[in-house]
Amino acid sequence: MEYDDTERATEFAERTRRFVDEVVIPVERETLGSEPVDEDVVDDLRERARERELYAPHLPEEYGGQGLSYRDMLPVFEAAGRSLLGPPAMRVEAPDEGNMHTLELFGTDEQKERWLEPLVAGEARSGFSMTEPMQGGGSDPKMLKTQAEKEGGAWVIDGHKWWTTQGAEADVLIVMARTDREAHPYEGCSLFLVPTDTEGVEIVREIPHVGGEVTGMSHAEIRFDRVEIPEENLLGELNEGFSHAQQRLGPARLTHCMRYSGMAERALDVTKAYVSEREGFDGPLAEKQAIRFTIAEAETNLHAARTMVRHAAREIESGGEARIPVAMTKVFAANTVQEVIDDCVQLCGANGIGKDLPLADFYENVRQFRIVDGADEVHKRVIARDAFSEVDSAEVDGITRYEE
Ligand SMILES: Cc1cc2nc3c(=O)[nH]c(=O)nc-3n(C[C@H](O)[C@H](O)[C@H](O)COP(=O)(O)OP(=O)(O)OC[C@H]3O[C@@H](n4cnc5c(N)ncnc54)[C@H](O)[C@@H]3O)c2cc1C
Repeated sequence: MEYDDTERATEFAERTRRFVDEVVIPVERETLGSEPVDEDVVDDLRERARERELYAPHLPEEYGGQGLSYRDMLPVFEAAGRSLLGPPAMRVEAPDEGNMHTLELFGTDEQKERWLEPLVAGEARSGFSMTEPMQGGGSDPKMLKTQAEKEGGAWVIDGHKWWTTQGAEADVLIVMARTDREAHPYEGCSLFLVPTDTEGVEIVREIPHVGGEVTGMSHAEIRFDRVEIPEENLLGELNEGFSHAQQRLGPARLTHCMRYSGMAERALDVTKAYVSEREGFDGPLAEKQAIRFTIAEAETNLHAARTMVRHAAREIESGGEARIPVAMTKVFAANTVQEVIDDCVQLCGANGIGKDLPLADFYENVRQFRIVDGADEVHKRVIARDAFSEVDSAEVDGITRYEE
């Protein structure tokens, strides 16, 4: 399919695809299975990405990146997503990618020097700590309980978070906390940079889950017990935490869509090859119409998802109100890639769930996407609120009603 990607984006995405096919996938075949991949393997892949000038495409050159614009990076993320090892190899994996973006947008020069530079270099790791256990903030972030209070020249944070990706390995966490209890939470929360070796930060546990991350990343439960950090660790403006997070999450939702779209595209490539070679009922499976229709529907929905991503990205880049297009895209893309990968598993039979092919890892990994970055229902709530915002009762004039 042709898209209106710029020449630079197309050229960069083609080089990324070659890198993933020639360098990353052979390593994936040797290393992926049930165990996480060693750090040395990832470091080596990163070196190879640097040699090909593909490393950290999303960051400005002054920080060691390749300086792609937001829209240009989307097809690149898609090409990287063809292997679960592609994003870490190119340093575009979540959550560091979104955290680097947040630091780039809102960090002071000192914060960038201390955190952004080592993050780009791959010498530090980070987590984004927002979701909280039961009575705290989850799908409804207004429930957020973690708080930060000013005591002299320091902020003191108390709270309890869970599902902080990479929390147990991180050097620094970006923590969302309430800073004005009188205000509506959307106007009374702030972001803080919390080094994980600060006294009072307790990694309670790594939550067991389906879909092990290839690099062994944790999803951690963390307590913050009178965690004292200096004033200058406030990230961005005081009480602007939600609006800053929104600036991180909107674009990050689309980059996530593209990484997953790459995963679905590769799943289809693998499946088309399998059903073309596998024979049964007097010929290759690929000749059965039921199978051809499944592939046709998958290709159609994937094309629609990619088109929606580009449309939403245009809205973001032009400074428009991108909330609805992003919500629609997130829901549609997450459901599409999940269905495509499930179909691919089915069409490859036993090998769909065997680990000789990458499909089983994709299958385990993709399930989270309908939940992370806002569950389907939360986005549909936003879409429906907009849809119902201008209801005109005159549209049903002529219908019989009870008389008063
Ligand atoms: C793999 C993974 C990584 C994650 N990484 C991070 C991270 O790094 N940092 C972080 O802060 N969080 C992270 N999260 C948490 C994630 O952001 C939340 O899981 C997500 O926002 C949903 O919140 P919840 O799990 O608390 O769901 P809950 O709020 O408990 O909701 C449960 C379910 O109820 C349904 N629901 C909720 N509200 C409504 C409604 N109004 N109407 C109808 N149905 C509704 C949805 O189906 C939802 O999935 C991660 C989660 C996963 C699975």
